[in-house]
Parts: sequence; structure tokens; C-alpha cells
Amino acid sequence: MQFHWRNTQMALSCENSARTEDSLNAIQLSARNDIMKLVVEWSLCDGNGVCTVEAPELLRLNEQDELVVLSEKFGPELEAKAQAAVRVCPKRALRIDRSQ
Ligand code: SF4
Repeated sequence: MQFHWRNTQMALSCENSARTEDSLNAIQLSARNDIMKLVVEWSLCDGNGVCTVEAPELLRLNEQDELVVLSEKFGPELEAKAQAAVRVCPKRALRIDRSQ
């Protein structure tokens, strides 16, 4: 009986380890997929700066009124702001690449 109990405990332990490993893999995969990239089509951008109001953490104008991308890659915490920047761009020069 004790032998059976020990085997059961070992089986549960292995099962829990496998689950933990699966969970870690899922978290790592999810973290990788959460990284997005803000892409500027420079040939379309006229530097009007409308986008910088929506996502100042990612975009700003320099002293020559040229658009500067402060951070190409960003996480979910800035996704709404990046989407707003994309939405307001009158030249459709911004897009979000999710294949990072
Ligand atoms: S809103 Fe569009 S066109 Fe204007 S600076 Fe930003 S990316 Fe360039």
C-alpha cells in the first residue's frame, strides 16, 4: 500500500512538472508574441507630428520638425497609444507589425 502511495505521489509530481513546463513555455511564447513594432513608411511621412500627440513615448519631433521614433518595439502597455498614432496619421505612414 505504501509503495502504491509513493508511486502515485511520483506520478503526480511528474505530471505537475510537465504542467509547469508547459505553462512556462506558454508564458514565454506569449511574451514573445506581445512585442510589437511601430513601422514608419518614411516616403509617406511629412513630419506633421500629429502622431506624437497620441504616442509621445514612441514618437516625437526633433528640432528640425522631423519625426523621430523613440522606440520601435513596444509591449502591450503601449499598444493603445500606438494604435491611436496609426489611426490619426493623415498620411497613413504608420503601421504596427505584430510578427516580432
Ligand atoms: S502623423 Fe504620420 S505623417 Fe505625421 S509625422 Fe506622424 S507618421 Fe509622419
